[in-house]
Amino acid sequence: MSRTYATRYGLIAGVISILFVTLYTTLEYMGQRIPTTFIQFLASAGLEYWLVLTLPLTLTPLAYGAGRQRDRVTAYAHDRNTLNDILRSLMVTPDLDQTLPQVLHHIAATLGVDEAAVLVHQHEQWIMRAATRGAPDTTADIARRSAWPPAALTPIVLNLDQAPAPTGTPSDYHGAVLQAVYAEAQPLGWLVLLSRSGQPQRHYDPVWLTAVTDQIGAALARARQVALIRRRARDLEALAQINRTLLAGIDLDTLLDAIVNSAQVRFGLPYVTVMWIDEAAGEFYPRAQAGPLLASAIPHFRQKLNAGLAAEVLRTGQPYLARDTRREPAYLPAVKAEILSLLLAPMKVAGQLIGVMTFESLGADEFSDEDVLALTTLADQAAIAAENARLLASAQRERQRVVAILHSTHDVVLLVDMAGVVQLLNPAAERLVGRPAADIIGHPIEQLPHLESVAAVTEEHSFEATLDNELTYLVTVNTAQDEAGTVFGRVVIMRDITYLKQLDLFRSQMMQLASHDLRAPLGVALGYLDVLLEDMQPPMTLFHEKALRGIEAALNRMQTLVTELLDLDRIESGVDQISESIDVAALVAEVVLDYAEPARMKRQPLEFLPGADIPIINGDSIRLKQALGNLVNNAVKYTPEGGQITVRLSRVEQRVLIEVQDTGYGIPASAQPKLFQRFFRAKAPGTENITGTGLGLSLAKAVIEQHGGKITVESETGRGTTFRVWLPAAMINVR
Ligand code: ADP
Repeated sequence: MSRTYATRYGLIAGVISILFVTLYTTLEYMGQRIPTTFIQFLASAGLEYWLVLTLPLTLTPLAYGAGRQRDRVTAYAHDRNTLNDILRSLMVTPDLDQTLPQVLHHIAATLGVDEAAVLVHQHEQWIMRAATRGAPDTTADIARRSAWPPAALTPIVLNLDQAPAPTGTPSDYHGAVLQAVYAEAQPLGWLVLLSRSGQPQRHYDPVWLTAVTDQIGAALARARQVALIRRRARDLEALAQINRTLLAGIDLDTLLDAIVNSAQVRFGLPYVTVMWIDEAAGEFYPRAQAGPLLASAIPHFRQKLNAGLAAEVLRTGQPYLARDTRREPAYLPAVKAEILSLLLAPMKVAGQLIGVMTFESLGADEFSDEDVLALTTLADQAAIAAENARLLASAQRERQRVVAILHSTHDVVLLVDMAGVVQLLNPAAERLVGRPAADIIGHPIEQLPHLESVAAVTEEHSFEATLDNELTYLVTVNTAQDEAGTVFGRVVIMRDITYLKQLDLFRSQMMQLASHDLRAPLGVALGYLDVLLEDMQPPMTLFHEKALRGIEAALNRMQTLVTELLDLDRIESGVDQISESIDVAALVAEVVLDYAEPARMKRQPLEFLPGADIPIINGDSIRLKQALGNLVNNAVKYTPEGGQITVRLSRVEQRVLIEVQDTGYGIPASAQPKLFQRFFRAKAPGTENITGTGLGLSLAKAVIEQHGGKITVESETGRGTTFRVWLPAAMINVR
């Protein structure tokens, strides 16, 4: 029994009064009297014996009552101190797991109950948040006996012997008091007080109890807040960590590995998996896994797309939270260890599911709403990252292909942006510029050696350029466009054609040489032939004459060939070209006149339609006459007897159009593209016996192009041919 003031006072009063009575009766017996006025007064009233004898009986309860009063005051002060202690410890230490059991111990001691526990209501379940050491695990069952949320603020007193005991209710305890714990006006759970005796041993003050539970509620709310902030910080750190991984631009599998590892460590989960979709097999399979449970992962685990909890995610596109796998019949374990709760979060790209991130935990209901939010966000990011990695990989493959092509070509290739700055180039370009790519990219093209002349060309164009390094290139400039058709620069491709140029030069030198060396002996041969033809007296035999005429025709053909070859060469090399004002109408009339006789011989009407308002042109009249003469000559040549030849002149804006039309054999469509090549001769029915060099049209084309003009052909076999020549009008100075 505890030593309270009440017992102490009662005992002392009892002992003193008994001593007094003993002393009194002893003195009385000895015939002596106690000379006190008080006794004398009592004696005079006749109450002396009665009072003295009852003194212990009256004095002891009085003293006991006073002691009790003092006990109350002390207890109150003690309670106040306990409360203060509780408040202080709840306020200062944020770690409730340590403080709360101590606080409960204080409360139990103060109230004289055996155990105390705090139960919180979460996700429809009662969870024991903290308890005194001896509190039974089954305390939660008591919470289930009362209606939730609580109807009143006052404590509920339960007689555990009377209430129907649910299974597992602690039978050692007979009484319980439940006081609701609130935080921010929301009920959180119960403070449960358990007593073996049926009732708390000490009277407790409901106001005191409310004050204590309010403090516990506030502390729980604070702890939640702190945990939430910590978790947010942790989530953010995890996401940031994962983002850093994503930015590193690595391949998909390394990336997924990094994500699951990071998530596993940051969120402290025993098992994290990325279940990938294998479209071809119609199955999910773990593409990346992490966590201590990895060792117990089922080898070669695969599941059908319509099986397991992942199928649910595939069906709905939403995350799936399994709070307790024992109540999830569809759950297919991927590890041998027992998983009680798991979260499956979708990984979606453009609304399409590519995989499911699975976060597993050993305990039941271990994912809070905040966890679900953070982990689904993580899965979203992982999906984006996976897609980026895929795009990056395909872009890299594409790039490698382009690079391989660029590296293998000997052509110089440069990509220049709209501002003329080099963005990309190949090794051939590096060799031309004489610097490594790193020193070229980012520089304006016109500042690079040998490329000044090329830099000026900004439109699509193909031309020959001899650079200051003495090399000749065929330069092609194309605009560079993206998929949307937006021009973002130009591609310059340069093919080294120096050797072709050299070949050409060599060929023309050979030609000059050969034709010069042929011309002289040909002239001699023709001279002697003339002499022979005139001097053969007496008259030649028919055979001799035929033979001599044959030699003459052959020598003439050779001479034409040599002349035409030399002419062509001169024209193409541009030497001795003169420029004068030419009256085209007069010039064409002369050409037509030149061929009037041959046409007449073949009974071909040769018509000339001179047109009106024909402008003057600039050029070389002899060459032009030669070129146009070739066209009229061909018309006469490749048109059978009786056909019609028409030469038409007209003005088309600032150009002169000369048309030479015949109704002859025509040119097959397949031969038309090659018509202007040297030595090319088309084969059309009827033209088999017509002789020629195949040089006339190439000569005509060369002359016309040198005059800035253009020549085209339109023909149909058996119907006839039209050659059209456009020549630009001379610029006339207007006064
Ligand atoms: P050629 O000396 O053979 O006439 P050209 O260069 O003048 O050489 O002509 C090339 C070829 O074009 C000829 O061989 C002939 O097949 C064809 N050709 C040119 N003009 C005509 C035409 N007016 N009608 C039909 N074929 C023509």
